[in-house]
Amino acid sequence: MPMPVDRLVSSPRSPEHQALLRAGPRIRPLKQVHAHFIVSGSLRSLPLLTKLLTLACTAGSIAYTHRLFFSVPNPDSFLFNSLVKTSSFSGFPFDTVYFYHRMLQCRISPSSYTFTSVIKACAHLSTLRLGKRVHSHVLVCGYGSDPFVQAALITFYGKSGDLGVARKLFDKTPERTVVAWNSMISSYEQNGCSREAIGLFNLMRERGVQPDPTTFVSVLSACSQLGALGLGYWVHDYIIENELYVNVVLGTSLINMYARCGNVSKAQEVFDLMNERNVIAWTAIISAHGMHGYGNQAMKLFLQMKAEGPRPNNVTLVAVLSACAHSGLVQEGRKVYASMSQEYGLVPGVEHHVCLVDMLGRAGLLTEAYQFIKDLNYLEPAPAIWTAMLGACKMHKNFILGVEVAEHLLAVEPDNPGHYVMLSNIYALAGRMDRVEIVRKMMNQRRMKKQVGFSTIEVDHKTYLFSMGDKSHHETTEIYQYLDELMSRCSELGYVPAPNSVLHELEEEEREYALRYHSEKLAIAFGLLRTGHGSIIRIVKNLRMCEDCHLGIKYMSTVTKREIIVRDKLRFHHFKDGHCSCLDYW
Ligand code: ZN
Ligand code: ZN
Repeated sequence: MPMPVDRLVSSPRSPEHQALLRAGPRIRPLKQVHAHFIVSGSLRSLPLLTKLLTLACTAGSIAYTHRLFFSVPNPDSFLFNSLVKTSSFSGFPFDTVYFYHRMLQCRISPSSYTFTSVIKACAHLSTLRLGKRVHSHVLVCGYGSDPFVQAALITFYGKSGDLGVARKLFDKTPERTVVAWNSMISSYEQNGCSREAIGLFNLMRERGVQPDPTTFVSVLSACSQLGALGLGYWVHDYIIENELYVNVVLGTSLINMYARCGNVSKAQEVFDLMNERNVIAWTAIISAHGMHGYGNQAMKLFLQMKAEGPRPNNVTLVAVLSACAHSGLVQEGRKVYASMSQEYGLVPGVEHHVCLVDMLGRAGLLTEAYQFIKDLNYLEPAPAIWTAMLGACKMHKNFILGVEVAEHLLAVEPDNPGHYVMLSNIYALAGRMDRVEIVRKMMNQRRMKKQVGFSTIEVDHKTYLFSMGDKSHHETTEIYQYLDELMSRCSELGYVPAPNSVLHELEEEEREYALRYHSEKLAIAFGLLRTGHGSIIRIVKNLRMCEDCHLGIKYMSTVTKREIIVRDKLRFHHFKDGHCSCLDYW
């Protein structure tokens, strides 16, 4: 039988209230205060109960929160709103939706606060149907033009992948606050539409809206995806000029942007100036060095982190192991892997296993890598593990093992066109053209298409996108002419196209054409045409670079005396004077 509750208002200075404040969001002290309230009869005060409930929820004990809630006979709108808001904020989206429903059952009208929290919970749960129902309710209750509700709805539709509706809502927002702009920009960025995100950011600046740190976190992430270093520099300059406080989130975004746009020393500079460095920031800087092949530097930072930083987590160890793999630090990598469980009590997962197979494989220890996979005792190893093993077989030209591995890969993931391409390439390298034909037929039967590759380049703060054989650019004629000239100059120096690089489903003639006009070559030609001598060409490619492009770009760097940096799906390639930083292992 719940005890009667009256609406006695307890003053914030009352001893009961003070007791709650002292307990804070900690379960044990809260339960002690709760017991004391039962004895003294203080639970009759609804404000005190509300405070107790929100503290319990913030403390993370949702079961206790529910038990307390059931003991309240007449919950009021303030209690409901506090619960909806706190549960959403504390990461209990299901419970937010539950309290919202209870609120409606009790015939209490939701406020804009309620809606903002419930919509956030729906975004978290990715439940489009429920979110749409809440949206209708928003309109019925007349909160359609509330700026906070609108921003939450934009984020909700963005998170659900419905960018069209998100943008419509954004366009219809009468007074667009910075929150609304941020919601739309981050929706684009999170759906991989980085160009749209940057386009909208430019519009925001034109309209005179002042960006805030949240805006920059999204914009920097979009810059990272596109390799838009120029805009990244601009954002950093803006932050410095306007003396914005660089918190750990913004600082980490800057590190990631510089690293992924190919400027590791700037990433290090940002890290050195950060006042506060959490495990994410440390992981970002270690990974920055690792992805550029500076394994020793990554190891040095890892040791420094162990000495003075926070405790490394699973992600940190992926970064360290991947750095070891990319730099051939086999002994160090083995030690780090062993230390995971011994020193940190962490259980290695698929990502760590992939790094280890990659590391052993790259170093030519194929038998050991294969044994390592077998010893993992997986019922069925993850495709990523086989892919790493296959890459190693290809690199060290062990085609017999390669074919075996590729067949495993196909058995695990029969619907991934990438695996068929890998298998067909390895058969071709092994000279088994009959098998190449079979794979080609299998692909046709399954109506599979190769993933479309594209490359981006930033010139004068604008990002240009090229796909294979792209003729949509208005300077197409000049680009193709220049590329043809360039390739013939490369041929004079000894460049011969690598024919195995294109899937063998293409006809002979088409194959050579496709090779010559791969997206990265077009983007580089455009960059060389449009930028001054001495400046570095930076390209981002969405897929792994093919062997022919890798070879061709080495020659291009010699012929043009320009430094070319390509970020492909896996790593960075710094091309200079006919050599690549990956030492042809990628
Ligand atoms: Zn290529
Ligand atoms: Zn390379």
